Amino acid sequence: MTDLIVAGTLLTMDPDRTIWSDGAVAVINGRIERVGRRADLLEDHPDVQLLGGPDCVVTPGFVNAHQHLTGDRLIRSCIPDDIPTTTAIFDWVVPVHAAHTGDDDELSATLSLLEAVGNGITTTIEAGTVAHPDRVAAAFRAVGVRGCIGTWGWDSGEGPFSLPTREVMARQRSVLDANPSGGLVEGWVTLVGHDLASDQLFAEAADLARASGTGLTFHMSPSADDAVAFAERSGKRPIRHLADIGALGPQTLIAHAVHLDDDEVDLLVETRTAVAYCPWAYLRLGQGVTASGRHIEFLARGGRLALGCDTENAGDAIDPLRVAALTAGLARDMSSDPLTFGAHAALELLTIRGAEAIGMDDRIGSIETGKIADLVVHDLNGIGSTPNAVDPALQLLWTGDGRSVRDVVVDGVPVVLNHESTRVDHTNLVAEAVASQRRLLDQAGLSPTPRWPVR
Ligand SMILES: [Zn+2]
Repeated sequence: MTDLIVAGTLLTMDPDRTIWSDGAVAVINGRIERVGRRADLLEDHPDVQLLGGPDCVVTPGFVNAHQHLTGDRLIRSCIPDDIPTTTAIFDWVVPVHAAHTGDDDELSATLSLLEAVGNGITTTIEAGTVAHPDRVAAAFRAVGVRGCIGTWGWDSGEGPFSLPTREVMARQRSVLDANPSGGLVEGWVTLVGHDLASDQLFAEAADLARASGTGLTFHMSPSADDAVAFAERSGKRPIRHLADIGALGPQTLIAHAVHLDDDEVDLLVETRTAVAYCPWAYLRLGQGVTASGRHIEFLARGGRLALGCDTENAGDAIDPLRVAALTAGLARDMSSDPLTFGAHAALELLTIRGAEAIGMDDRIGSIETGKIADLVVHDLNGIGSTPNAVDPALQLLWTGDGRSVRDVVVDGVPVVLNHESTRVDHTNLVAEAVASQRRLLDQAGLSPTPRWPVR
């Protein structure tokens, strides 16, 4: 018995990148049972719930491969944007993170995931700065979206949650045990990365991810600072050092990797290590991606690349179409080649290639029979979408953003209908967020003020 039919112009992202101009997807028990012509599927299933329609575009759910779900969210737009990045992190973000209760973590993650799914993201890789993973997992389940979570992992420095290596690893294992692979929420091994983990921690984390068949993610080289730190630490470049201690490989997803030399690009390609590229963060923080970024070259050489929205103090908006459009624009401008990397390549990163980079392309990332039904219905009825384009990929990417997302299905369940979550009541969230923000800033001893005079 079919549960649901989702209709529209289908961008399937299957191996041929087939588009069905008036197509539909039949969903049974959370899986895609059939893909075909809308008229045929409706004739066979006249009484099922129908989403979308001939004026809609249906895409696979989008993958966000790097997203901080706690901490920055509740102080969004409070941190001045004219201070050094390290000051923003260590004077603002870290103390606010440290003041987070479990309730704050769940509220923060709920807000972030609601924004994300409202813009079409159905799978989120948490970036590795969660203090209360059980509460963040609860937020995923409440919003009804797919994701991978870990917990804070660093064994050097004075920061909150910094612990001896053995205790960091024990906390990582407990997240994997509580969130087994294959579920809506999966445990990953997550380290802060940079120069904030010992060699032993990097190596043991990679071993644990390999042994558990799950992923490992951490930050590296968004700016040139990590190369300076690793030069002092080992005399090597960061990626070369990580390769030598066994931390690279198909299980590893490195966030950023903006500042790489030739050897580091080679190593990432050769070891099948994936990279999460978050271009808004590099622009917002002035990290030099336009001068130094090599992500498109990495992709062209067969590298596994996904896109990420990062965090509220960097990428700010959790809107994958904005990130993808920026990615395409930057690729062309940085190469001075308008023929390279366009809308279609950018959409691949949000869907099938993103799924491949996080090791989930056997389940998600395309609209194909047998895959999990994670689907997004984009409403292209508005003035901004009129007249409809001949090529929906061009229209979605270059003219659109998350505002076109009308309905979202995750695991075969409609979790957003007509722009509203079907799962979470928004009514109290705003008041809770305002109260939480005030308390967190007070506890961290921070008092943000607008730069311009307030009367
Ligand atoms: Zn990050």
